[in-house]
Amino acid sequence: VKSIQARHFHKGRLAPVRLLTVHTMEWPETVTAAEDCARMFATMDRPASAHICGDSNSMVRCVADRDTAWAAPGGNADGLHYEFFGRASQSAGQWADDPSQAALRVAAPQFAEWSAKHRIPLRWLTRGQLRAGLKGLTTHADISAVYKRSDHTDPGAHFPKELFLKLIKAELGGSDPGTDKSQVPRFARLLAAGTQGTDVAVWQRRMRLRGWSLAVDGKFDARDADICALFQKEKGLAPTGVVDLAAWRAAWLAPIT
Ligand SMILES: [Zn+2]
Repeated sequence: VKSIQARHFHKGRLAPVRLLTVHTMEWPETVTAAEDCARMFATMDRPASAHICGDSNSMVRCVADRDTAWAAPGGNADGLHYEFFGRASQSAGQWADDPSQAALRVAAPQFAEWSAKHRIPLRWLTRGQLRAGLKGLTTHADISAVYKRSDHTDPGAHFPKELFLKLIKAELGGSDPGTDKSQVPRFARLLAAGTQGTDVAVWQRRMRLRGWSLAVDGKFDARDADICALFQKEKGLAPTGVVDLAAWRAAWLAPIT
């Protein structure tokens, strides 16, 4: 990967990476767009940058992953940022044209690498999940909407989110680093109403990460049992409200939906 260092960035990271963020450069879809945008980041006075710029035939590295790009206020400290060529105003048809499809294929391996390295689940965060601090993919538009510190709407309403997710998953052979098997903590005992302990907190923390709203207090109460039952039902398990081995493993291994 070519490298043209951006002029404006923060040395080091302010928080662990949790967001993989998609932007558009607001730049024509030319074969040198990545290089052109990177050169602009290297020379311009306005404080803006991204980790990588990509077009239909190559990527250019502008900021190292270990440093913080100035790409989307609110999502800089814990984000990695990728600029696609093209514009936020593109229609679905324009995203389906050959140059755009090629750009998605250029970017997918990079997102797969980021996802694996930082254990980012392969999902698009809802704005609620983004606000709640969950890990996943997001857009400059959603960061603007949630943190209200910029008004950019890239990559636009018609960016092919599901297709891009499919391309990233294909790079990883269908596995999701956010639900890696090596991540499952040891299952020690059944968790039922009244159970207390650090294993309860481990399960609660995991369920919060999956988007459930519950307290991480190490005490398995009626609300935890209700959430467990809802989760079991969602995953096709018997909704007993008791965290057994199947429910425990599913909390780490089942796709986050
Ligand atoms: Zn942007």
